[in-house]
Amino acid sequence: MRELYTSMDSTRIGFYKSVLDEAGIPCFIQNETTSQLVNMLAMVFQPTLCIINDEQYEQALVLLKPHHEVGSIMTAEEWLCPCCKESNPASFDLCWNCQAAKPE
Ligand SMILES: [Zn+2]
Repeated sequence: MRELYTSMDSTRIGFYKSVLDEAGIPCFIQNETTSQLVNMLAMVFQPTLCIINDEQYEQALVLLKPHHEVGSIMTAEEWLCPCCKESNPASFDLCWNCQAAKPE
């Protein structure tokens, strides 16, 4: 068993689980049924997506990667540097990291 992803966003966790389910990777969500008392003590309710087979960890990461990037850090306003793959705010004409020009 290995923890894969932790988030306050239980909807996202549930979505990731469905992605892994579809790929045939056995997984479950920990803390999902945590009792009220434990929640109060911990103050936070943080579901964790876990996979059963450690050797499938890399595979699971690859599967979730595209979903991970969508809707998290990247926005439509940002552009991705073709040289170093860093994301830049729309207002930047040069990459903050390597000074490459913004692609057309
Ligand atoms: Zn760059």
